Amino acid sequence: MLVDSFSRKFKYLRLSLTEKCNFKCSYCLPNGYKGCSPKSLEVDEIINLASAFKELGIEKIRLTGGEPTLRHDLVKIIYALKSEVGISQVALTTNGFRLDRDLEVFQSAGLDCLNVSLDSLIKEKFQSICGIDKCESIKQAVDRAIHMGFKSIKVNCVLLKDLNDIEFPEFLKFAQSRQISIRFIELMRTGDNQEYFKKHHLPVSTFEQTLLRGGWEAQQSGPASGPAKEFGHPEFLGKIGFISPYSKDFCSTCNRLRVSSTGGLRLCLFGQGDVSLRHLLQNSSDRFELKEMIACALKLKPEGHRLHQNVYGNMHSLSAIGG
Ligand code: SAM
Ligand code: SF4
Repeated sequence: MLVDSFSRKFKYLRLSLTEKCNFKCSYCLPNGYKGCSPKSLEVDEIINLASAFKELGIEKIRLTGGEPTLRHDLVKIIYALKSEVGISQVALTTNGFRLDRDLEVFQSAGLDCLNVSLDSLIKEKFQSICGIDKCESIKQAVDRAIHMGFKSIKVNCVLLKDLNDIEFPEFLKFAQSRQISIRFIELMRTGDNQEYFKKHHLPVSTFEQTLLRGGWEAQQSGPASGPAKEFGHPEFLGKIGFISPYSKDFCSTCNRLRVSSTGGLRLCLFGQGDVSLRHLLQNSSDRFELKEMIACALKLKPEGHRLHQNVYGNMHSLSAIGG
């Protein structure tokens, strides 16, 4: 099992499949993706990477990006992870744009868990935050996914002061009759969003009090829950979760490792630089060396980020590696 110098255990990997994105979320890529798109890992490289991580005890892999559904070989990747490598839980974080067409195909390929970003329930507001008119089709896709029996469905919403914060009660209603978990994510400061952050950052902890007053109760967090804090209510099918990276002790429950779309191991979301693994992904015969490299690098994982001191490493936008 992978354990770091602070006794944190890691069974969960987030793998970015591309830096590209087709949305223009105002907090992430307000001008759309403008990069020169470095060559993303190929399926064979992903199989070698995932096989090494599996042998090191990783049980869950989340595919993220950029927008992972922009990869034309996504179905092949999901299938390979699930059926060839034998990863127990394959999850996808997506902006939802391909779900109306491909949800069933993703599930047939072996997708277990789905995270869909939905920053507003109102068509016009969604368009003004994400730069695209997709709100209604994403809501429909969430409802279809519920009936398809995924292991877990989460709806991610970045809470933004004076933009979507007044929709908090509407999101609660959305969770009333749906077996989903709505995850409110606190806006994180990155290299590219300084002014935006000043205007729209809001500590999500403010809403925890609202929930407690409304009869919601904090759920017991299991060893696999990671840094999210989750609440339940007897009259609601859905759960509400908060991800508050600025809260005290957030990093002490860190349970995830990250690999960029070009095969760089990122030890902390807001760390400086990656450990490149790509040269060891070309041949399965390099598996032993690859595992050694990952285990050694993990010893350098810092105890926590330093966002409070405005240190955000080389994180210019979360689209570069996935949230
Ligand atoms: N494109 C996919 C999506 O939007 O779901 C996956 C990648 S996106 C970077 C992953 C998550 O990070 C999304 O839920 C997004 O809302 C969140 N995110 C992006 N930038 C953020 C920021 N500055 N602060 C907090 N969350 C952010
Ligand atoms: Fe794209 Fe996701 Fe960033 Fe929005 S949050 S711009 S969908 S990568």
